[in-house]
Amino acid sequence: MRQSLLFTKTRKDAPKDEIAKNAQLLIRAGFVHKEIAGVYSFLPLGLRVMNKIVGIIREEMNSIGGQELSLTALQDKKIWETSGRWDDSVVDVWFKTKLKNNSELGLAFTHEEPLTNLVSEYVRSFRDLPVYVYQFQTKFRNETRAKSGIMRTREFLMKDLYSFSKNENEHIIFYEKAKNAYVNIFNKVGLGDKTYITFASGGSFSKYSHEFQTITDAGEDNIFVCKDKNIAINKEVLNEEVLNDLGLKKEDLIEKKSVEVGNIFSLGTKFSDAFELNYSDESGTKKPVIMGSYGIGPARIMGTVAEVLSDEKGLVWPDSIAPFSIHLLLLGDGNAKVECDNIYEKLLKSNIDVLYDDRDMRAGEKFADSDLIGIPMRVVVSEKTLQSKSVEIKYRNSDKVEIMEISEFQKKFLK
Ligand code: ATP
Ligand code: MG
Repeated sequence: MRQSLLFTKTRKDAPKDEIAKNAQLLIRAGFVHKEIAGVYSFLPLGLRVMNKIVGIIREEMNSIGGQELSLTALQDKKIWETSGRWDDSVVDVWFKTKLKNNSELGLAFTHEEPLTNLVSEYVRSFRDLPVYVYQFQTKFRNETRAKSGIMRTREFLMKDLYSFSKNENEHIIFYEKAKNAYVNIFNKVGLGDKTYITFASGGSFSKYSHEFQTITDAGEDNIFVCKDKNIAINKEVLNEEVLNDLGLKKEDLIEKKSVEVGNIFSLGTKFSDAFELNYSDESGTKKPVIMGSYGIGPARIMGTVAEVLSDEKGLVWPDSIAPFSIHLLLLGDGNAKVECDNIYEKLLKSNIDVLYDDRDMRAGEKFADSDLIGIPMRVVVSEKTLQSKSVEIKYRNSDKVEIMEISEFQKKFLK
C-alpha cells in the first residue's frame, strides 16, 4: 500500500485522558481511534494486526478440531435465567437493552448459555460427541476500570471455544491439546518468552483453571512465577495447599505484575445440567455432557505486544502480526523515485506486504514515522544508496544498518 493513500496520519500526541502506553502509541501511530473510555475503533493499520492475530488463533483452533461458527450478540433473557446468570447481582458487567415491546435483551458478555442451548438441539447419542466449536465474536462488558487502553475495553473481540465431551477422560485429553495450542499461539505472536501457564481458581468442577499470564507492569494481575518449571500461580489462589500440589516452595517464586491474555476452564456439567444437555451412551444410559471453555482476546494480545515490545521511538511488531513486513522509504525524487517504484511493484508481485512511504516529506519525518509504526524491516532508497546501486536495510528491533546491492536484495527477498 502507498502511504500517500493511507487516510490516517501519525500524530505527535495522544489524547490527554489516555494514560495507557499501548493506546498512546497505537493512537499516535494511527492503529486505533478512541471513541470513549474503554471503547476503541480499529483503523486500517490496526485491523491488519488484528486480522493477523485472528489468523494465527484460527489456524491453531482448526488444528485441534475446532469448528468455527458465529453466535449473536443480542441475547434472550430466558436463556440466561435458566443458568441463573441474568441477575445483575450475579453478573455485574451486563449491558442490557429492550425491544420496542419492552421485553429485555442482553448483550452477550460470554456465550456458554446460548451455545449449550443450541448444541442440545443436535446432540442425542454418543455418536454426536465430542463437539468443539469456536467463534471470533464481539463481547460487551460494562467494565468498571477501563484504564488499560485496548487491553481492557467495554466492547471487544473474543475467541471463545467450547468443548462438549462424553466423559472426564475425553475432556482432559482435549483440554491438554487446547493448552498446547495456546502455548503455540503466544509463541507465534511474540509473547512466548514472557507468558506463563498460570494456575488460577477453578470454580466448583475442577480445582484449577489455567490462565496465560504475560509479565508486564501494565497488567492488573499479580502472579508468582517459577522460572525453572516455567509455570506461575495467580496470587488469588496462592496458599500452602497449592504449593504442595505443584511441588513448589514459596521462596523459589518471584512475584510479578501481569496481564491475563488467555484463560482455559473446565466447566464440568454446570451448563449441561442447566440446559439438560445429555446423551445416551453405548448401553443407552443417559449421561450429562462434560464441558470446557477456552477464551482469548486478540485486542488484548495486540495491546500487550504494544506494551512489552515497544521502545522509546514507538511500536515494534514481530513479523507474524506486523501490519506490513516491509516499510519501503523513498527519499528524494527523480531517479530514486523511478527505482523505488520499481522495487515496490516487484515486492507486490512477490506477495510481500509492503507499506511504501512515497510521500513528499523530509527524511527525518519519514524515519520517525517508520519507527513509530514499527514495521519489522525498513528499506530505504535514495540518490545516495543508488550511487552504489544499493538499498539501505534496517530491522526495527536492531540498530544495525546494512547496505545491500539491489540485485542481492531482489535475490533474497523477491520470489
Ligand atoms: P479479566 O480477569 O482480565 O477481567 P476475565 O477473566 O474476565 O478477564 P475471560 O472471561 O476469561 O476474561 O475472557 C477470556 C479472554 O478475553 C481473556 O483472557 C482476555 O484475553 C480477553 N478479555 C477479557 N476481558 C476483556 C476486555 N474487557 N477487553 C479486552 N479483552 C478482554
Ligand atoms: Mg479469566
